[in-house]
Amino acid sequence: MSSTSVALSGLAGGVGGLLTAWPAYRFSVPWGEPSRTACAGCGSGITSWVRLKHRCAGCGTASAVHPVWTALAGAAAFALLAWALPVSFLLLACLFVAAMGVLMSVVDLKVQRLPDPLMLVTFVGTAVLLTLHAVATGTWPEYARGWLGGLALLLAYLVFAVLPGAPMGLGDVKLAGVLGLVLGYLGWPAVVFGAILPFLVNAPFAVVALIRRGRKARSPFGPALLLGWLAAVVLAAHQ
Ligand SMILES: [Zn+2]
Repeated sequence: MSSTSVALSGLAGGVGGLLTAWPAYRFSVPWGEPSRTACAGCGSGITSWVRLKHRCAGCGTASAVHPVWTALAGAAAFALLAWALPVSFLLLACLFVAAMGVLMSVVDLKVQRLPDPLMLVTFVGTAVLLTLHAVATGTWPEYARGWLGGLALLLAYLVFAVLPGAPMGLGDVKLAGVLGLVLGYLGWPAVVFGAILPFLVNAPFAVVALIRRGRKARSPFGPALLLGWLAAVVLAAHQ
């Protein structure tokens, strides 16, 4: 991958990330509510999905996260993926997962859940892009392996999730399945990396949460899953 493509991809990820902070705030609502329609501070109505300011014009209440952080996360993830993979529908699928991943990570960090509508969009978009990649390149065995990889990670995380004291919930199980689609396409070593690396990413945060909030603390696992996935993709692409 040329440095120009890496820079362009990083730029696209940065712009996308910049625009992610506001929808992340709107999706950071308790279970059962579709999305935020009023400011958490003053209750004034919210209708727009595109907004760069992270403070309410009326009362100054800050939204979920400063857009600089989501922009940095998006730029780093997009640049890394463009560096690791050649230009293809497979790369597009990875970029799509990364963009949705930044959005879902902020929501998970804020309200400890991964909303089903976002998960469904991520799943459908990833499946469509991987199918296009198979059509374009004729890599049908790898495509079939992708679905098996998704199923394998889904079932593995389902087992992890029902173990007592598990750090993850059903949203994480679904996310693992979607991430497994991409990893399976890249190969079984990638699937194994994708299963193990999130626990390594999560370990220091779990220890800190345990010390600060005690045994019953529940910290989000989605961001660790996504970071582990990113590392697994890069490792698999460089074998
Ligand atoms: Zn307000």
